[in-house]
Amino acid sequence: MVHTILDCYTDEAAGLGVPPYLGTYPRYIAGYLNEDAYYLTIDDLRLWKKYDSKIHKTKPSEKTNIATYNLTINYKNIKKILERTDTLIVVLGTHVPGKYLSAIPGTLRELIPLIEDLNCKKILTGPVVYGTQHSGRKFYEKSNLEIFNKIDYSMFNFSYDKVKEYAITGTKIIKQIPDYRIIEIETGHGCDTGRCSFCTEPLKNKVEFREKEDILKEIIEFYKLGCRFFRLGKQTCFYTSPKNIELLKDIRQHCPNIEVLHIDNVNPLKVVTDKNHEITKSIVKYGTSGNIAALGIESFDDEVIKQNSLNASPKMTYEAVKVINKYGAGRGEDGMPRFLPGINLIFGLREESKKTHEENMKWLKKMYNNNLMIRRINIRQVAILEGTPLFKEGKDKFLKKNRRYYWKWRNDIRQNIDFPMLKRVAPKGTILKNCHAEIYDGNTTFCRQFGTYPLIVGVKSRLELKKFYNLGITGHMLRSLTGKAIV
Ligand code: SF4
Repeated sequence: MVHTILDCYTDEAAGLGVPPYLGTYPRYIAGYLNEDAYYLTIDDLRLWKKYDSKIHKTKPSEKTNIATYNLTINYKNIKKILERTDTLIVVLGTHVPGKYLSAIPGTLRELIPLIEDLNCKKILTGPVVYGTQHSGRKFYEKSNLEIFNKIDYSMFNFSYDKVKEYAITGTKIIKQIPDYRIIEIETGHGCDTGRCSFCTEPLKNKVEFREKEDILKEIIEFYKLGCRFFRLGKQTCFYTSPKNIELLKDIRQHCPNIEVLHIDNVNPLKVVTDKNHEITKSIVKYGTSGNIAALGIESFDDEVIKQNSLNASPKMTYEAVKVINKYGAGRGEDGMPRFLPGINLIFGLREESKKTHEENMKWLKKMYNNNLMIRRINIRQVAILEGTPLFKEGKDKFLKKNRRYYWKWRNDIRQNIDFPMLKRVAPKGTILKNCHAEIYDGNTTFCRQFGTYPLIVGVKSRLELKKFYNLGITGHMLRSLTGKAIV
């Protein structure tokens, strides 16, 4: 039996699998199959179906085609591979769709016509089993799934006693990826505190953590295969993971030349209640610089917090931001502050009103005025996914009501918080080390460091792509930087 895994990329509140990230799903599935399965990306498939597998050289006036940027070593043989394939396993699903610098996740609407003629069994899995959402749409994507022989929940959600083995054997798919990847590592799932109205995590998973030794073994295996960039990002709160300090320590001990060790989601409550701030101090000590705790605040408006069962009060969030700044604000080896908070806000939650924006601005300004740093503010419109409390009650009522204000609200935050904050986080003259040249747009090369939410730096010349550069920062855009290569 020949199995082929087709990665259309995944993005969930807890877990990223959009290049340059390599997500957990294709890896675990490869481990489960326990044979030499082929690994393909949606980019390979697009290149074959739309461009006859020929790579187009970007002209100086053009932008890099990011729809076909993330090819595997198999792209030239994709036709033969798919003819030999008995079972095609499609991994797909974005629950928190964003804009990605150098990748475009595949949607069902795009994918189905591309694979419907293939003469093999087709299985659909990944976050899509709970629905998937196009960037910029309110509801999940509705498609006719008849071409699939099975919608597979089990491959989406292996139990951790199985993941223990699959995570190790599945590391080998990295050999089919010629480019650098940051490896998204899972530490746990489920949420022990939240019942947030919009969130699918409590529906998908009960609270469970992977054993520290299993996580370490997986990282060591990837390290042996040459991987140097890791994010302990697939979890709802890194501070909640048991033995998190030991894990960080052990990773550094066993992988001395690791270049990136970052985290992702953090519950502000856990930062504040962390005894003697031991976890924060350890993240600063053992993690690499440029690290960010993405704090899922969603709103600073007490009424919205109450009506959507959000779990952090504005005061608590402010305190968490202070604690992380206290230990993490110093600049580290990559030129960025060692460890900073990031803030996630959501538009369209129940009881959102003009006051919501005023409260958001009040607290963000307080942070700025008190000399604190926030690395990034992520603002998105709520995705209304089936089964969530919001789907049952409220739906898009507030999205519809307030949508006309969103541009203004977002712009206020971008102009009056993000912009001055960016100047504080990465002032002119900062040297950001090891920035990876990712795409061209005309004569500009966009680069960024590997890591969690790295800053994008535009360089006014054509640097060779997929190479690393040290960049001196020369200016600030609203959410990105301009720079020049330091030779
Ligand atoms: S805290 Fe809320 S948003 Fe975060 S995982 Fe738990 S329920 Fe979901």
